[in-house]
Amino acid sequence: MRLFDHAVARALPVVPRSIVGRVAAPYIAGATLEDARRVVSELNANGMSATVDVLGEEITHPESAETIAAAYHEALAAISTDGLDANVSVKLTALGLHVDPELCRALLTEVLRDASARKIFVRIDMEDSSTTDATLELYRSLREDGQDGVGIVLQAALRRTLGDIEALSDLRPSVRLCKGIYVEPSAIAFQEREVIRKSFVACLDALVDAGCRVAVATHDEWLLGQTLDRIPRLEAAGYELQMLLGVRVQRGRELVAAGHPLRIYVPYGQQWYEYSLRRLQENPGVAGHVAKDMLGRLVPGR
Ligand SMILES: Cc1cc2nc3c(=O)[nH]c(=O)nc-3n(C[C@H](O)[C@H](O)[C@H](O)COP(=O)(O)OP(=O)(O)OC[C@H]3O[C@@H](n4cnc5c(N)ncnc54)[C@H](O)[C@@H]3O)c2cc1C
Repeated sequence: MRLFDHAVARALPVVPRSIVGRVAAPYIAGATLEDARRVVSELNANGMSATVDVLGEEITHPESAETIAAAYHEALAAISTDGLDANVSVKLTALGLHVDPELCRALLTEVLRDASARKIFVRIDMEDSSTTDATLELYRSLREDGQDGVGIVLQAALRRTLGDIEALSDLRPSVRLCKGIYVEPSAIAFQEREVIRKSFVACLDALVDAGCRVAVATHDEWLLGQTLDRIPRLEAAGYELQMLLGVRVQRGRELVAAGHPLRIYVPYGQQWYEYSLRRLQENPGVAGHVAKDMLGRLVPGR
């Protein structure tokens, strides 16, 4: 199966933009804020909340970070104006983490002020392992400065994550727990599916024990089962389930019908093409999922 995944990922740059667009369409709200507003309001009407993500990461000029920050202010204003049940997720590299860390902090602080005035929560996405320390340090420093409406993401695939949960426990952080999408070396990350699953469950238990609010972000049926088994304890700490737009849509509907809070991650923006291509190439496993999903749509009953 890995061969199939790698073959799909390698073929992507020669695939015409229009086809990448069709492949990416179920997973991205569209190019504009209007697209995101429409998709979020449809999700809300179906009993799901949303996280809005402005596409853009690893910028090379400070002006690009300012453009992304401005897009977040527009998204926050739209969420308030439309009364949407939505929060936002930001990527620190899109706000200039690698170009100018001070600018990144200043732009994020402004986004947090705006969001807090509108009572909207902000989550800092977790990117590849070159950003983990800086992300957790910035998170701690923001919380110590009194910013409470902000949360982080921890990746079960990283060997360090249980230690990070312990180190952060004094802050009782709001954590989105996911497997981790980036391909990382075995020195720092678990590689086998079953080991990552076990780590996920151990991290989930550690977060609940530390009294943290947890957003369980997975489409993995086995992990969903482990999560549902823990609902009484999760309810006490505060929990929600999270999925990506367009992924396991029917399962998401079933979870909502069963009464679980479900939040859908809604990416939008002009950079949809670059984003789709990079995500698919960075992790051939994702390219494989998408290609199989496409085949499923094209060949009903497959
Ligand atoms: C709301 C949310 C936010 C996330 N934020 C981050 C983050 O900040 N940092 C980070 O590193 N990672 C993030 N991720 C990604 C996460 O780390 C995983 O890479 C991703 O969720 C796939 O792992 P899984 O647990 O769903 O299990 P998998 O075993 O990978 O997936 C289970 C099944 O779900 C389906 N599936 C999963 N992903 C896709 C896809 N992209 N397209 C089509 N089908 C798919 C397939 O049917 C697959 O068999 C996020 C995920 C979610 C749901």
